[in-house]
Amino acid sequence: MSEVQTVEGPLDAGALGVTLAHEHVRFRDEAVAAEWPARYDEQAEMDAALSAVGDAKARGVQTIVDPTAMFGGRDVRFMRAVAESAGVHIVPCTGIYSYDYLPHYFANRDTDVMAEHFVEDLERGIQGTEIRAAFLKCAADAAGVTENVEKIHRAVARASVRTGAPIMAHSMPAVVTGPRQLEIFEEEGVDLTRVQLAHCGDTEDVGYIEGLLEKGVYVGLDRYGLEMFLPIDKRNATAAELLRRGHAERIMISQDFCATIDWFPPEAGEALIAHGAIRNWSMTLVFDEVVPALRDQGVLDDAVFQMIFVENPRRWLTGS
Ligand SMILES: [Zn+2]
Repeated sequence: MSEVQTVEGPLDAGALGVTLAHEHVRFRDEAVAAEWPARYDEQAEMDAALSAVGDAKARGVQTIVDPTAMFGGRDVRFMRAVAESAGVHIVPCTGIYSYDYLPHYFANRDTDVMAEHFVEDLERGIQGTEIRAAFLKCAADAAGVTENVEKIHRAVARASVRTGAPIMAHSMPAVVTGPRQLEIFEEEGVDLTRVQLAHCGDTEDVGYIEGLLEKGVYVGLDRYGLEMFLPIDKRNATAAELLRRGHAERIMISQDFCATIDWFPPEAGEALIAHGAIRNWSMTLVFDEVVPALRDQGVLDDAVFQMIFVENPRRWLTGS
């Protein structure tokens, strides 16, 4: 069987096992962290990452796909240390996580040059290591597919066409980014069966999701616990309906959990929890609440579990 790149080196795809398709062992701004390192507690970050990944491992998780790219503080040495200590495979990416901003460096270089940077990560190694990226990441959010976002999507697409690497694209159903994102990939000749459109589970509009599925992509129902985008009951209803309509082969279920994230001061994070905007967000929520709920509804049995948590991530990553 083919190999998948992990932070500990290439892994036989058959050894991926139960996989969470979208989690972050740490999420922070690399520029702020580099300029004011004393504002960050690396040991506390490591402890939180090991705790979250350890909890997932205790539920049977063997692999975590971590789509932390540029501007999420991607650090493959940190990720490798987590993987080694926790005994869980971590699958890293290349790409740019931006809703619009691009540094002058990339603004003044063309799309193909940007793509070359991604290809280097896929073929040679990331950040001076021999750790190679397994997939490509880009994002479109509330601002929509802006000129810069389109440039990143085209660069990601060209790197995918050149190397055969799969793509994960952050999307925002509330502003209908998905169709345009897929249109760009199609224009660039990407094999859409290798694309995972993240955050489709933020909407209850099953018709919208099915329109995307018709293109052959995987959809991420991957923000369980982030009630501010959609509460868990509505997420489960959407998942159940998609399963009833026969889409088990194209669904990823995950939490987009960040073991630590620097987006908010601590009191703001606590307020989000106190107000119910975030509830039981963790790397285990889908096993503790979602899988049991879908089993109760009669839409998920052992075979469907195997499909969603083992076969779909493997097929997306390897193409077979
Ligand atoms: Zn994410």
